[in-house]
Amino acid sequence: MPNRPPNAERSFIMIKPDGVQRNLIGKIVGRFEDRGYKIVAMKMVHATTEHLEKHYADLKGKPFFPGLIKYMASGPVCAFVIQGLDAVKTGRAMLGATNPLASAVGTIRGDYCLVTGRNICHGSDAVESAEHEIALWFPEGVIEYEDTEHAWIYE
Ligand code: ADP
Repeated sequence: MPNRPPNAERSFIMIKPDGVQRNLIGKIVGRFEDRGYKIVAMKMVHATTEHLEKHYADLKGKPFFPGLIKYMASGPVCAFVIQGLDAVKTGRAMLGATNPLASAVGTIRGDYCLVTGRNICHGSDAVESAEHEIALWFPEGVIEYEDTEHAWIYE
């Protein structure tokens, strides 16, 4: 991430259709806000199969791939971008493991769901994939704005 300070790392987070239907948007977004991450993009999207196949291109060929695309296309998702120190790795840690039963209590998946195929949220797994996913879901770009709490979150 050239020319961007460490506290401007970005990650793509998405509340999946089950998280939206279960009215967990506020709770999930709130966790990232409470931790100190800045939301720099957000929208509701009922994604097409084609779009989701691009998002999950790395998983094409996995036995669960068709079911995953059907699940993700079954309703709207809430897509957003968090910005802040270590956003990708810490974002993933806040999500928990892919299998909710293996996720620590206190993580989003560890607190709100039970099975891998309904694990309510997505988070980028690397800085490069975050950049790719942000470009895929937010081709219009993110919103740059002054963070008035910055000095209370960072030294
Ligand atoms: P993560 O979302 O934690 O990065 P993966 O990239 O491995 O995990 O998988 C993407 C998504 O595909 C998972 O979040 C989950 O919704 C689904 N998935 C992964 N493995 C399985 C599985 N064995 N059965 C059903 N769905 C799965």
